[in-house]
Amino acid sequence: MESTRKITLSENEIPTHWYNIVADMPNKPLPPLNPGTHEPIGPEALAPLFPMELIMQEVSQERWVEIPDEVREVYKIWRPTPMFRATGLEKALGTSAKIYYKYEGVSPSGSHKPNTAVPQAYYNMKEGVKRITTETGAGQWGSALSFACQMFGIECDVYMVRISFDQKPYRKMMMQTWGANVYPSPSERTNAGRQILAQDPDTPGSLGIAISEAVEMAAMHDDTKYSLGSVLNHVLMHQTIIGQEAIKQLEKAGADMPDYVFAPFGGGSNFAGLALPFIHKNLTEGTNIRCIASEPTSAPKLTRGIFRYDFGDTVGMTPLIPMYTLGHTYVPAKIHAGGLRYHGAGAVVSQLLADELISAEAIDQLETFEAGITFAKAEGIIPAPEANHAIASVIRAANQANAAGTSPTILFNLCGHGNFDMLAYEDYFAGKLQKHEMTQAEVNAAVEKVDTPTISSVQAMLAQM
Ligand SMILES: *Cc1c(COP(=O)(O)O)cnc(C)c1O
Repeated sequence: MESTRKITLSENEIPTHWYNIVADMPNKPLPPLNPGTHEPIGPEALAPLFPMELIMQEVSQERWVEIPDEVREVYKIWRPTPMFRATGLEKALGTSAKIYYKYEGVSPSGSHKPNTAVPQAYYNMKEGVKRITTETGAGQWGSALSFACQMFGIECDVYMVRISFDQKPYRKMMMQTWGANVYPSPSERTNAGRQILAQDPDTPGSLGIAISEAVEMAAMHDDTKYSLGSVLNHVLMHQTIIGQEAIKQLEKAGADMPDYVFAPFGGGSNFAGLALPFIHKNLTEGTNIRCIASEPTSAPKLTRGIFRYDFGDTVGMTPLIPMYTLGHTYVPAKIHAGGLRYHGAGAVVSQLLADELISAEAIDQLETFEAGITFAKAEGIIPAPEANHAIASVIRAANQANAAGTSPTILFNLCGHGNFDMLAYEDYFAGKLQKHEMTQAEVNAAVEKVDTPTISSVQAMLAQM
């Protein structure tokens, strides 16, 4: 009998609203704090950096936020994204599990990131912003934002970590193709950059320095704002179109709702995008869909970090956010899944983890590349190294199901393709990839440095206000 392999939706089935889980959370995320005074900050404090509509979305308690027609029009370039039944992988594993994946690699820049870049560029354009600045490491976020800014006719300045600028030229060229200005960071354009260059002219740069440069340019110019590709509430909310489409596709295929939902975890946006609409079902319809984040053993903030207020950046300039963190000064090992090398997790996903509404597991990079290659051989698509973490989790779950004699339905997020990450695969084939797990001493040393307010001290302060 023929079975369905690809499950598609038509353009008019692109979701009309983003889902804001804050409305349904039993414990709301605690507010961000001013980095200097440690007082809760209001929306006005963010106004120099973000357009007002995004700030209102950041603090919104509304369950459904309407997607503007102009944004849905751009989404039509690649949405709805396909869902696949992974029949090839099921066969390769000899598993009784039913495996599905949502494929976000069909976007112009090759990952889920344009799902938020497009509305962010749109709201900036609507409020008369002329230019958006941002930072990028390997280039996934920078390329998504460059594409989105081009769609709405605004300028995009990307501060790209110098070593990536020199060694990973293809994403830089994508950004330039979409009209962005790409500057190696540190640059001579900002005070932050000039200071660092004066001390160390040959510095390879870092994401922290690039953030400082992008934020400085936005804060100094009235017609310029700043943009972030993960972590913040509004970014996670924009991604929920992934999970909403997935639910429709499973229904269309006549499949059961999944027993397990897996996604890789950097700051939480693609995980939240797929998982939150399923958690909505758990919270409102009494289902028991287990949503599990896959993180690297070299940056295990969810499984081994602490739940505490911390800075979003390495320098300590951003508001303090309640997050699972390894400490903002912790620099994860240089694994190939660049998008997962982040010290903390967004406030919404952190609160969900604290309340045990989601869970997490950490996986070593060697296992993730083995899983990614098994997947590529069975399904054809070469996954982004980040996505390989979710695939490794899926393979573990499928093998456990076999051992237990069960046949669960498993869904995961193939959040991007790996066509620009072949150097990582080359290293794997050359045997150069190392296993890397933080030791307990390293975890202790990292979290002991965190001296920012605790969750309970802020709860006590809020109770008195
Ligand atoms: C940026 C990125 C990630 C990590 O970011 P999240 O916000 O956790 O999704 C994961 N996968 C890919 C392909 C990315 O580009």
